[in-house]
Amino acid sequence: MILILEPGHTRENIDTIVREIENLGFKADISTGANRSVIGVIGDVSQVATEHFEPLDGVERVIRASRPYKLVSREYQPETTRVQVGDFEFGGDKVGVIAGPCTVESREQMIETARRVKDAGAVAIRGGAFKPRTSPYSFRGLGEEGLKILAEARDETGLGVVTEVMTPEDVPLVEKYADVLQVGARNIQNYHLLEAVGRASKPVLLKRGLSSSAEELLLCAEYIVKEGNKKVMLCERGVRTFETYARNTLTLSIVPFLKEETHLPVIVDPSHGTGERPLVSPMCYASVAAGADGLLVEVHYDPSHALVDGHESLTCEMFAQAMRTIRRVAEAVGRGA
Ligand code: PEP
Ligand code: MN
Repeated sequence: MILILEPGHTRENIDTIVREIENLGFKADISTGANRSVIGVIGDVSQVATEHFEPLDGVERVIRASRPYKLVSREYQPETTRVQVGDFEFGGDKVGVIAGPCTVESREQMIETARRVKDAGAVAIRGGAFKPRTSPYSFRGLGEEGLKILAEARDETGLGVVTEVMTPEDVPLVEKYADVLQVGARNIQNYHLLEAVGRASKPVLLKRGLSSSAEELLLCAEYIVKEGNKKVMLCERGVRTFETYARNTLTLSIVPFLKEETHLPVIVDPSHGTGERPLVSPMCYASVAAGADGLLVEVHYDPSHALVDGHESLTCEMFAQAMRTIRRVAEAVGRGA
């Protein structure tokens, strides 16, 4: 349920409304926008009438959320959420590109790749220290050592660090080094993890699951935002289908759909979304044309020797080339990059 406040409401009005919401056993979420302020009533409100809140001073009108998700909907917050990562703000006028290797393999590999992607125009770096792998015998990342290397790469380049966290217990550790906590596709249904990153102070990049619908993705984001962390970015990274020419099927029509439905910034990951190097750059351009706020691209300084996902990683030269076209496409659709 969403309480839209009168333009002239006072602090006392808000306090009284929040008290009333809490007395009924719900949580209140206050959102102050440029054009209007709202209070979300969080919980199962199916048994509460809108008339309950309508007479309260400061309340202009009360609406029932027309979607199963509330806090992440545009209905609730018309302005796009801005997520600050280092010096860059996702969700603003410009398209931001996050780039780096799939996995942190060594200090030299991460720092050299970070320098090169920065020179090409990336606004944040990525690399996994904790890797969810299909086989338990594959390389699963360097753990804390990898996080330290990522922090060093940030010190070298000044760019924010995006890296995956796999368990609720690891959130404090990853948060110590990372600027953005990534929840991977395989973990999107780990609701305890969603709640744990929802209580963290760092922004979250939430990847669509291998078979998540758009609605499920939005409900997973709701789990995070409901815990208080409003800095969430959604990431399309393809889904499993019958198709075999690519590792996953990248569904770019989800981008304009999400831009309509939610105020959260939308990122596209064409690397995991296709799994095939020749398809990555064209899908970067298409994603920007479709309205993405950002891209996540795997780049390795020597993909043929990458320990993970070399097949889909761009070389540093290919990435620099792709960035030039990404900028042109971004300008063509009224944004910079
Ligand atoms: C990744 O970004 O490194 C990754 C493992 O991606 P996904 O969770 O989308 O498979
Ligand atoms: Mn990868």
